Amino acid sequence: NKGVILKQFVTGCPTEDDLELVTGVVRLAVPPGSASVMVKNLYVSCDPYMRNRMSEHNEASYMSGCEEYTLITDPESLFKINHPELPLSYYTGVLGMAGLTAYAGFFDVSKPKQGDYVFISSASGAVGQLVGQLAKITGCYVVGSAGSDEKVNILKTKFGFDDAFNYKKEEDLNAALKRCFPRGIDIYFENVGGAMLAAVLPNMRMNGRITVCGMISQYNLEQPNGAPNLFCLVAKRIRMEGFMVLDYFGTYNKFEEEIAGYLKEGKISVVEDVAEGIENVSTALIGLFSRHNIGKQLVTIAHE
Ligand code: NDP
Repeated sequence: NKGVILKQFVTGCPTEDDLELVTGVVRLAVPPGSASVMVKNLYVSCDPYMRNRMSEHNEASYMSGCEEYTLITDPESLFKINHPELPLSYYTGVLGMAGLTAYAGFFDVSKPKQGDYVFISSASGAVGQLVGQLAKITGCYVVGSAGSDEKVNILKTKFGFDDAFNYKKEEDLNAALKRCFPRGIDIYFENVGGAMLAAVLPNMRMNGRITVCGMISQYNLEQPNGAPNLFCLVAKRIRMEGFMVLDYFGTYNKFEEEIAGYLKEGKISVVEDVAEGIENVSTALIGLFSRHNIGKQLVTIAHE
């Protein structure tokens, strides 16, 4: 049984040297009389939260093994896949944690209304691409930022964003936001933090909402370079609210039915970045932080 383990705690940007492919991670037998289940893993999901798990003082959160077979000792945590007619890999992304994050964060925290002006950072990623499409379905005006022209093109042509820009090519983020939102932003779906958040705040409208989903630009910094302009929260009565997808696991079935329906009707598109083989997990995972992935990053480690 091969698996990828953390070789050493990480400070700064993770590298492939911090991870190691080893064999014999778990024994390949279920203890007699136990309720445990041995699972053969077909896909590994690569997610930004894994960076937090690599730090010495990490806050324990969800993560089972990154390995070919996993012994699940709490089988009640497993759930049935209700739409096997859809690609199974979707359950690592659009029908998995990233999808539920987008759905719960947008509808429950952002509280969108038809006609709202919505801005999404890291918009072509696993979470951002679904937030944007749900915002379009809701009747919002939607703009996304991403880190390459290829990603920007996908936002406009595949996901139906009204506009998008490559933040790396913009000398002045404030000017880019003013160009895209001359009348200001009602909802900012925050995935990156740092300079982008600082630029967004003065461009928010009165009573705007900032849904703080993640701040990937901060994860590898020893000292966060927090956003200036925070007083805009007060002057403009902006609601800035964080959330954890963990709190929404109980709503999974409603989410699965709604998103599976959209997928089957062709109302939602999916872009996945699929690597092949457990020996490529480290590269795929590190690639999230060097911005290599286009869409949901996953790795196929066995075939059905
Ligand atoms: P993505 O696929 O969006 O993540 C990778 C992308 O992040 C990269 O391709 C890159 O896109 C962008 N990125 C990487 N480093 C930086 C940087 N230094 N500055 C700016 N952008 C950067 O991942 P997900 O869609 O899975 O996650 C999106 C966000 O949602 C993350 O912040 C994550 O932590 C958060 N999250 C929060 C959850 C919650 O419960 N609150 C649950 C799940 C995810 P680009 O080239 O466009 O810059």
